Amino acid sequence: MKVLKATTMGFCNGVSFAIGQVDSCLALAAERGVPAYSYGAFIHNQQVMEAFERKGLRIIDGPEGHAPGCVVIRAHGVSDAVRRAFNSAGFILVDGTCPTVARSQRMIRKAGMEGLHVVIISLHGHHETLALAGCELQPGRVVPSTVVERPEDLERVPDGVPLLVMIQTTFPEAESKVMYAAIASRFQDRKVVVGNRICPSSTVRRNAVVRLCEFCDAVVVVGSPQSANTQALGKIAENRGAAVYMIETVDELTDELRRYRCVGLTAGASSPEDVIGAVEDRLNRM
Ligand code: SF4
Repeated sequence: MKVLKATTMGFCNGVSFAIGQVDSCLALAAERGVPAYSYGAFIHNQQVMEAFERKGLRIIDGPEGHAPGCVVIRAHGVSDAVRRAFNSAGFILVDGTCPTVARSQRMIRKAGMEGLHVVIISLHGHHETLALAGCELQPGRVVPSTVVERPEDLERVPDGVPLLVMIQTTFPEAESKVMYAAIASRFQDRKVVVGNRICPSSTVRRNAVVRLCEFCDAVVVVGSPQSANTQALGKIAENRGAAVYMIETVDELTDELRRYRCVGLTAGASSPEDVIGAVEDRLNRM
């Protein structure tokens, strides 16, 4: 069985940045003698989260019921209301928001000040969606926005107002094309500004999977079931006819893979190098 690695996979710049910020959060908390927290899982990877928990990081879902300390904001960002809640409860925020997501949030606030309504192409309930839809013009006054995942969601966009279109940085490529086409045909009567695009980090990973599928009859995708970008990689391989094996750790590899002539390996943006390396080693020994 031949094994081919995707040319790009694993940690993106945003995740590397967030991990650096968690280290800073732990150091600052130790210096001040206060607890170190993460607001939810700062990346979608259980192994990485557990390693930081062993260093003393505690995962919380809000300031209530916890002694004030240093809290790291996850790579997907958070709403302004969440920031305010932590600040007012006396916590020190260490911002792990990916700079690309932070830029999207700045664009949304600016659009709100200019009177635009924001259409957010995003998966309902994803943390980045909550961060984008929770941008405020002033405390308690959220920028008007509509989160859309499918063309029929566009019916909820209010009439007449000019629009800024933003997209979740890891939104699936094929679905994004459907959404942009639906927006272009539905809102011909008004000004529509496209603010951002799918993150280049995601695009490069996805293109690498497309190339893998030219040679491989099966693809192993390493990453968390909660990670949108990992799921998107699996979907791309599946759409290209490859058998797809979604795994989080090396222990989930199955002997069934031996029946393939060529197996591709890729990993989501929150998969650490050591986990990917262990999977690669095992595949090479199969
Ligand atoms: S995929 Fe892009 S936007 Fe998302 S965390 Fe990584 S670098 Fe940032």
